[in-house]
Amino acid sequence: MADFPTQARVVIIGGGVVGTSTLYHLAKKGWTDCVLLEKNELTAGSTWHAAGNVPTFSTSWAIMNMQRYSTELYARLGDEVDYPMNYHQTGSLRLAHSQERVQEFERACAMGRYQGIDMKMMTPDEAKEMYPFLETHDLAGVLYDPSDGDIDPAQVTQALAKGAREMGAQILRFCPATGVTQQDDDTWIVHTDKGDIACDYVVNAAGYYAQRVGEWFKPYGGRTVPMMVMSHQYVLTDEIPEIEAWSKETGGKLPLIRDVDVSYYFRQEKHGFNIGPYEPNCKAEWDESGDAIPEDFSFQLWSDDLERIEDIVADSMERVPLAASAGISRIINGPIPYAPDGLPLIGPMPGVKNAFENCVFTFGIAQGGGAGKVMAEWIVDGGTEWDMWAVDPRRYTDYTDHAYCVAKGKETYGHEYAMHFPHHEWPEGRDKKHSTLHSRLVDAGAQFGAYNGWERANWFAREGEDTSEAATQTWDRNGPWEAAIEREVEAVTNGCGMLPITGFSRIKIEGPGAKDFVDSLTASRLPAPGRVSLAYFPDSRGRILTETSVMVHGDDEVGLITAATAQWHDREIFSRQVPEGITVTDHTDEVECLLVTGPKSRDILAPLVDGHDLSQPWLSVSLNGTVAGQEAALIRVSFAGELGWEIHAAPDAMPAIWDALADAGVTPFGMYALNSMRIEKGYRAWKGDLSTDYTLLEGGLDRFVKLDKPQDYPGKAALQAEAQRGRKKGFVTLEIEPGEQDAPYMAPIWHGDEIVGEVTSCAMGYRTGKCIALGMVRADLLAPGTQFEVDVYGKRHTATAQPDQPMWDPKNDRIRA
Ligand SMILES: Cc1cc2nc3c(=O)[nH]c(=O)nc-3n(C[C@H](O)[C@H](O)[C@H](O)COP(=O)(O)OP(=O)(O)OC[C@H]3O[C@@H](n4cnc5c(N)ncnc54)[C@H](O)[C@@H]3O)c2cc1C
Repeated sequence: MADFPTQARVVIIGGGVVGTSTLYHLAKKGWTDCVLLEKNELTAGSTWHAAGNVPTFSTSWAIMNMQRYSTELYARLGDEVDYPMNYHQTGSLRLAHSQERVQEFERACAMGRYQGIDMKMMTPDEAKEMYPFLETHDLAGVLYDPSDGDIDPAQVTQALAKGAREMGAQILRFCPATGVTQQDDDTWIVHTDKGDIACDYVVNAAGYYAQRVGEWFKPYGGRTVPMMVMSHQYVLTDEIPEIEAWSKETGGKLPLIRDVDVSYYFRQEKHGFNIGPYEPNCKAEWDESGDAIPEDFSFQLWSDDLERIEDIVADSMERVPLAASAGISRIINGPIPYAPDGLPLIGPMPGVKNAFENCVFTFGIAQGGGAGKVMAEWIVDGGTEWDMWAVDPRRYTDYTDHAYCVAKGKETYGHEYAMHFPHHEWPEGRDKKHSTLHSRLVDAGAQFGAYNGWERANWFAREGEDTSEAATQTWDRNGPWEAAIEREVEAVTNGCGMLPITGFSRIKIEGPGAKDFVDSLTASRLPAPGRVSLAYFPDSRGRILTETSVMVHGDDEVGLITAATAQWHDREIFSRQVPEGITVTDHTDEVECLLVTGPKSRDILAPLVDGHDLSQPWLSVSLNGTVAGQEAALIRVSFAGELGWEIHAAPDAMPAIWDALADAGVTPFGMYALNSMRIEKGYRAWKGDLSTDYTLLEGGLDRFVKLDKPQDYPGKAALQAEAQRGRKKGFVTLEIEPGEQDAPYMAPIWHGDEIVGEVTSCAMGYRTGKCIALGMVRADLLAPGTQFEVDVYGKRHTATAQPDQPMWDPKNDRIRA
């Protein structure tokens, strides 16, 4: 082929809406020497048959950002690239059947308004005025989103392709990628039947083929892409004269309806309807039947399976009775990929240098615009404008085997519109990883949650307490767990408690200059040997990448302990840039951690330890010694903010240690109690309070930021400039007027008529007797005593800024005792 490109900066594999949007956004950033490979025609995967709905609604801040961006892009794209397309921003009505649902909508509305989307709540009567054919008698409320609508998926893909081509990017259709080879310098060769393309970066945008394409990266450190494929259907009805008449009279299209409690969307399509159920009795494809994914399924569909969705379709016809007057003209049944949580994979490919994923989209039309922007930022800028952890491929680690992906994918699809309550744990895909204490925790009444696949105790139920899943279907704080949290906090405050922090991620950096290497990446000062401290790792813009506990064991060895969920994310901060001669190894599975904390912890531990000096001060590390006759290290820290030690020992040693502590009367406590106590201490949590949405200085981490450190580190110049200029936002602790619920993540903080910040975490503090939120507000409003209001599920609660110190034990007397 004469003009076959043998060289490109980026090769994108897959020409659906997402791959094409990636190419367009790379070109927009000036990276025009990029190539997209599509094995068939553009849109041949899931894109061509999608219904094309483009909502902005989400209860995830990151997803809402992406979807909002898509609507803004799609509204201007036709003019920008001179490719007119059918994009109807009809608005949508989301129907609530219960008060809990109204609260969910209120929360999304509050977030939406913060993002500049004009969402609002309506009464059923107001909705009926907008949608005369709608049955509203049984509704509790309606959310109206004016920016919602539908677009022709093929047209938007072609428009993005036209825009990209006109900027100089290339699209090769009918040119499947057949494999990849990584070069010694970590660049790539992408193979096709028409020739090889050498490139700096590769993007897997292969939609439901992403797992197959992902296999090519395994020799270079990759893993099996965590995904599965569902069959998803929508029903098109015949045209209905009344709809035609209404459209002619009003000159418009009816708003899109989402009856989320029944689980379907319902949209005007020409003069009929498009009804799309997410049925609980759903079907995974290319799996249960034993069929492997075919070599090519381009532009194909499965045959109809009306039986699976007929109850939901029948329900929709009661909601809009006019629909019952029409026959079904067509059913579309196509493949839709699912990651276990139903969110896409957007970001660096875990374990592989210079490779990215932008795949496994269940709402790729709605998210495609935003996903292209995010991917282009990852590649060109090395990071994204908005924190995108919610969709980062590294959120999944080694536990996502096939059975897990299928079970979770089906669960997520069958509950596509379900409410995600703060104390609810989804039942599928559990028990992937147990600590050696698991049976003891079960015996003690533990109610578990999954943390990076590990089962951890959230709270401990007593005989007769309600542990049903139904009891967790509430936004309220006051469920059966609340009494348990109170008594667990009480035990830790006045006696001694123990909590297995199973699955703490552990990274060891070893080799000549290991300490200098870690030092070159952190803004913090590293501790002396025998001490532990927190270190913060910024990105090049000074934003918070991660926080780890650091122990320096000499110039050539540093140990890092970090959040369970951060395992693959944090490992890559080090392994991606490790110099020759230094190794980065993951020891997560080799050590178990038990936090023993409370004013009596020293007295209880004293007779059990040998070789450890319990009078050593706070933040000291004692590596050699035993606890209950078992070799164990002690680190004098407590995330609960009481006197305490973390016991670190081999998993096999832990049962004996637990038994000895239990015999000494130590009370087990869980993650919910720990969360309440850490918020009282103002201790931040990763990807809640600590994210790339904030710089280290905005995050109030000044005492961990050494601007005068002799070493350079990422973001140092940016942080120095910020320190000069002053931060835009700042970390604040708020005492909130306690209501029935805790303020959710990203609850807007109001000052007068203006939104000036957001809550990043919130809990009732049982030691202080106060409801406390950690958050970020405009920097000029940080003075203690400043009055705010926080929007908690639609209700404004007064809140007062607190002094910049922990609300519990502000001088740390208890922890230093
Ligand atoms: C019935 C149905 C209705 C839907 N309705 C909506 C909706 O209303 N709104 C919404 O947002 N989403 C909807 N979706 C989901 C949406 O279709 C997908 O999320 C979206 O199309 C995914 O886009 P993509 O670019 O990631 O993947 P795809 O469109 O699947 O594109 C991937 C491309 O990669 C190509 N490819 C694969 N392997 C190779 C290779 N080796 N070399 C080169 N090319 C390769 C494929 O041919 C394909 O064209 C619906 C899905 C279904 C099934």
